[in-house]
Amino acid sequence: RTLAELDADLTECRACPRLVEWREHVAATKRAAYADETYWGRPVPGFGPSDAALVIVGLAPAAHGANRTGRMFTGDRSGDVLYQALYDVGLASQPTATHARDGLELYGTRITSPVHCAPPANKPTPAERDTCGGWLAEELDLLAPSMRSIVVLGAFGWQALLPVLARAGWEVPRPRPTFGHAAYVELAGPAPLHLVGCYHVSQQNTFTGRLTPAMLRDVLTRAKGLAGL
Ligand code: SF4
Repeated sequence: RTLAELDADLTECRACPRLVEWREHVAATKRAAYADETYWGRPVPGFGPSDAALVIVGLAPAAHGANRTGRMFTGDRSGDVLYQALYDVGLASQPTATHARDGLELYGTRITSPVHCAPPANKPTPAERDTCGGWLAEELDLLAPSMRSIVVLGAFGWQALLPVLARAGWEVPRPRPTFGHAAYVELAGPAPLHLVGCYHVSQQNTFTGRLTPAMLRDVLTRAKGLAGL
């Protein structure tokens, strides 16, 4: 199937009972500030072109962010930080992402995650990560002809991604490379692939200054160059 077909099929997935229950519970109960909105309440597919050279891998949709708007990192504080930085380095058409039809475009960049449904407390279980890994594996396989670099936001994404890449034919060293901010690995495989680690854009990191806008821009600029963008 094509990437568009994969994205469409993904939105029908109900493979993880705990996450299905949570995403739908959040969508039915809502946050007061969004009481007038219809929440998406389903799996959130990757966002960006099917021939992306740079891929950004996060963690999972936020309950009142992507689980509400239906688009990755759209409508929450993490997304505010990420899209501002993507715009600043020339990878996004606008610095804000408020809802799925706000006209935002990504240039040569696709954003996805190892878990596509909002988890309670932002913590998927290892079993949920492994179940959803099948979607990520197929997505990366479809992106492989154009994909040259990946920015991984946070240790969860890093640990989820490496086995998926190994399954898809990239040579992942043993012991596995460890996650860190600005950690860098080049993997041989279907095409050489550059991995760059980055602290997650969660409020825990951005409000405390652990991840500053300049640090995020530096990682994105490096990955953009490695991707040939
Ligand atoms: Fe399906 Fe992934 Fe959602 Fe689990 S997390 S229900 S595998 S889309």
